Amino acid sequence: MKFHIVTIFPEFFQGPFEHGVVHKAREAGKLDILIHDLRNWTSDRHRTVDDRPFGGGEGMLLKPQPLFEAVEAIWPERVLGEVNAVPGESAADAPVSIEPKKKRVILLSAQGRKYDQSLARELSHCDELLLICGRYEGVDERVALHLADDEISIGDYVLSGGELGAAVIVDSVARLLEGVLGNEDSTVHESFSQPDLLDCPQYTRPAEFRGWKVPEVLIGGNHAEIRKWRQFAAREKTKRFRPDLFRPES
Ligand code: SAM
Repeated sequence: MKFHIVTIFPEFFQGPFEHGVVHKAREAGKLDILIHDLRNWTSDRHRTVDDRPFGGGEGMLLKPQPLFEAVEAIWPERVLGEVNAVPGESAADAPVSIEPKKKRVILLSAQGRKYDQSLARELSHCDELLLICGRYEGVDERVALHLADDEISIGDYVLSGGELGAAVIVDSVARLLEGVLGNEDSTVHESFSQPDLLDCPQYTRPAEFRGWKVPEVLIGGNHAEIRKWRQFAAREKTKRFRPDLFRPES
């Protein structure tokens, strides 16, 4: 799978993709991440990417022209509207399912639909994703309306840029790709693999640490009992920390 990230801070990504699972996936050729400096698509001496908002207000916005030209240079077919299954469709009227589209332009935005594990799974079926990182007070709305297929928020808080969001999407999608994690079961038995349940608490050696003991059942070797305890403990943890997910009947 290939990711493109369009940003005014390409150096931001020197660290996040150099470790662990993502790094290994890149080394193994399962993941390609290309970072594009938005300023490459400016034409003035100052390489300007931003301008003041119409109607007044705080701060500056990323201008549409460098962003449209960046996407059109990375995916030239985009100019002809051939990337989208429905040419001319925008994030505003796109269906919630992204199934038919194998290449998608995603605008990172606090105003987008909220990112979660099921959306990560959907995105993991794409061939290529192009992530646009906003900055300043945001991005000219025509990018959301006429360039992006999707506007995605990584949570209900405001970041100073889309770069952290892009890194979150790359990491969470990469580990879902076939052959990226050593043990494929890792993504089956974890938080949100059942949408209404967190992972169960886990323990490792020693069986007693500073007087705190590992639950007896985990040491006993009775696998049916262990399964039952894990299900119970996962439900208890979900109820405590994520009552919004918890379903008493499940
Ligand atoms: N004025 C915008 C608003 O209130 O919605 C916030 C702009 S924010 C300071 C600058 C950029 O950070 C955004 O264009 C977006 O790319 C990114 N950003 C901020 N919060 C985000 C979030 N929760 N998820 C994804 N990207 C976010």
